[in-house]
Amino acid sequence: MTPRTGRHFLQIPGPTNVPDPVLRAIAAPTVDHRGPEFAALTRRLLAALGPVFGTSGPVVIYPASGTGAWEAALVNTLSPGDRVLSFETGHFSALWREMAGALGLETETDFVAGDWRHGADPDALAERLADDTGHEIKAVCVVHNETSTGVTSRVPEIRRVLDEAGHPALLLVDTISSLGSIDYRHDEWGVDVTVAGSQKGLMLPPGLSFNAVSDKALAASRNSRLPKLFWDWGPVLEANKQGSFPYTPATNLLYGLEEALLILQQEGLENVFARHQRHAAATRAAVRGWGLEVLCRDEREHSGSLTAVLMPEGHDADKVRKIILERFDMSLGAGLGRLAGRVFRIGHLGQLGDLTLAGTLSGVQMGLELAGVPVRPDGLGAALEVLRTG
Ligand SMILES: *Cc1c(COP(=O)(O)O)cnc(C)c1O
Repeated sequence: MTPRTGRHFLQIPGPTNVPDPVLRAIAAPTVDHRGPEFAALTRRLLAALGPVFGTSGPVVIYPASGTGAWEAALVNTLSPGDRVLSFETGHFSALWREMAGALGLETETDFVAGDWRHGADPDALAERLADDTGHEIKAVCVVHNETSTGVTSRVPEIRRVLDEAGHPALLLVDTISSLGSIDYRHDEWGVDVTVAGSQKGLMLPPGLSFNAVSDKALAASRNSRLPKLFWDWGPVLEANKQGSFPYTPATNLLYGLEEALLILQQEGLENVFARHQRHAAATRAAVRGWGLEVLCRDEREHSGSLTAVLMPEGHDADKVRKIILERFDMSLGAGLGRLAGRVFRIGHLGQLGDLTLAGTLSGVQMGLELAGVPVRPDGLGAALEVLRTG
């Protein structure tokens, strides 16, 4: 093995690079989670989280990966046999739906099939809602940014369709790979539960996840009959009033969260979103310059946080990733589910500057060439042009 020098390039779409101030914050001694110092931290955090979600309502924090917050969104709002509408946007939408089925929700009737190259289809939703005159669909689940495909769904259009149909279903949105990277507004877009995680746009290690909760979702939680204990919002919201939690919170990750929120606030959320869009545009310029195809097919739906690159027929994406890891010490995302071997994913979210992206794309270009993939050498130059002029 070649001796490694410099920093590893962790360019997967989560976990992302953790900024040094966040790592230092996490390294502080663990305190009493029932003491006054920690209660003050909890209060500061709950106040600082709202703006990132675009909400003035409650945000529940869990010591869990994003999958836990998926479960929390479902078990707090729904009852056995409830019909849940979901869209086949990719691997993560499929996993969330599978979870809903395992919890005893009805996920077959209202499943909108897709090709893994488009986001949730507002027109298809309009048709399904028009058929549901009895309002039997209780929730609509959307993955805002489908991390397996690099496609961002148009949540405001989904909301508009629900409103135009006058349909009361709850809107549950997974923002695990978009919060803090791609424009998102829980209140303004009328989302009922927003699901988020720590290890992507929020630049923390894995281990925290979140539910932002609307008044309507809170009201639904009082009638929800799915079994829950750990995920139950009620006791968490009650304990949070005292700055505490009903069980031991992930103390040190919460130190890191305060630092990460400060970093986002200092750059300004608008600037954070613009930076991600610019980096995504530069990455697409590179892909097209190489003569390869971006997986996302709709210009309105390109992800700001990652780009999935489709391999030419007969070339294995995992071979390219292996060469890049071994030669250049860079990790890229693998194709998931039905995309295994057919795409690789370039993560460009979180703590990232222009030259980190330029270095990333240099490594990808060299890796493609070394793997014998027929690419033009124009990709990197096209990306640098976007970075220089953008
Ligand atoms: C990463 C991710 C998940 C899974 O989160 P875990 O933290 O791995 O449990 C779910 N949905 C999306 C969109 C993701 O990007």
